[in-house]
Formats: sequence, C-alpha cells, structure tokens
Amino acid sequence: MDFSQLNKQRAASFNKQKQLLKKLSAGQTICCEQCQKPLKLNLAVDAAQKGHVCCDKGCTYIELEIA
Ligand SMILES: [Zn+2]
Repeated sequence: MDFSQLNKQRAASFNKQKQLLKKLSAGQTICCEQCQKPLKLNLAVDAAQKGHVCCDKGCTYIELEIA
C-alpha cells in the first residue's frame, strides 16, 4: 500500500470538507453533485456523534472530521 498517496487523498478530502463547511456555515447553498438537491449541514449534538453534511436523498453523506 502506498501511504503517501493515501495521505494525499486524505489531505485533499480534508481541504474539501473545510471549504464545504466554510461555505455552508456562511449560509451558501451547496448542491449535491448527484441529485442537485441542497446539502444540509448537521452538526453533532451528541459527543459520540460526528457532524455530517448530507442531501435529502442520501447520495451525499460526508462525515466531518473537523469540528
Ligand atoms: Zn444527493
């Protein structure tokens, strides 16, 4: 397994999440790439839960690694 490649992918998805989160929390509407429905930001209420971004249909579900 190529770990450097894996780390690069993780870093890329982390940056993508960060930008997505920034836009959503700024009140911008981001649409799902699959169904074009607006994505919703759900921040974790429970400590055991992670915040996530998802669309109505569920084709996009991004677990947030950042608070
Ligand atoms: Zn969708």
